[in-house]
Amino acid sequence: MHNDAEVKVFEQDFRRGLSKEDRKFLVTARNGIMQLENSHYELPLPLKNPNVQLPNNQDLVLRRLLKLKRRFLADKSIENHTRKMVQMNSLERNLAVKFGLDAPAEFGQTFSYPKVYLGKLNGEFVTLESYLNGTFQKYINNTGNIFGEGSELSMKAESFVHYSYVTSAKQLTIVDIQGVNYAVCDPEIASSTLMARDDTILFRSGNLSTTAIEEFLSKHTCNKYCLLLKLDQVVHEEDN
Ligand SMILES: [Zn+2]
Repeated sequence: MHNDAEVKVFEQDFRRGLSKEDRKFLVTARNGIMQLENSHYELPLPLKNPNVQLPNNQDLVLRRLLKLKRRFLADKSIENHTRKMVQMNSLERNLAVKFGLDAPAEFGQTFSYPKVYLGKLNGEFVTLESYLNGTFQKYINNTGNIFGEGSELSMKAESFVHYSYVTSAKQLTIVDIQGVNYAVCDPEIASSTLMARDDTILFRSGNLSTTAIEEFLSKHTCNKYCLLLKLDQVVHEEDN
């Protein structure tokens, strides 16, 4: 809350159907609110007994904070991130090649990922990849949602995601399928296990894990390309 107007909105939002406890909280908030030097506002905790003695958990909080800091440092360093990008690109390219080999001739053209290189620019690690010229399209986003339903490319993109799920023994799906025609780039991997043993996020920070996998499976209806790839059909609950 920053000013009287916001306090008013807050009160209007919550006035209807206020319980006794809510009213008590509002009185506590109104009487105890104060502005700090950094211009933020501070509210007292809505405690039943204002003289409650809370245990000192500073040690525990500090230990958790240090663990979190280590994880963030491991995840966020630019070098680590760029190296991960290159490793993931290699995995994605291999998957696309395997997909191309497993697809029968009737399937037609399949997708390919351009190679991503690791480089250094002004002392900073960077990734480099060739520019895709043409109209950029998104077929599946990183949450597993499907776009452009019905087009041949979109159906092929869906079968590619379904294929990644089957071929990885349900361990991961490739999502965020986008690019210019069959030249796709910058996908995400959603893995069924999110955290690695060293407490870092597997693949990239955009890994939406089972949320994206389940979203895709709930939206995907197997098409002629899934059939050509002989993928086990995705069954929806409402089909049963
Ligand atoms: Zn399918």
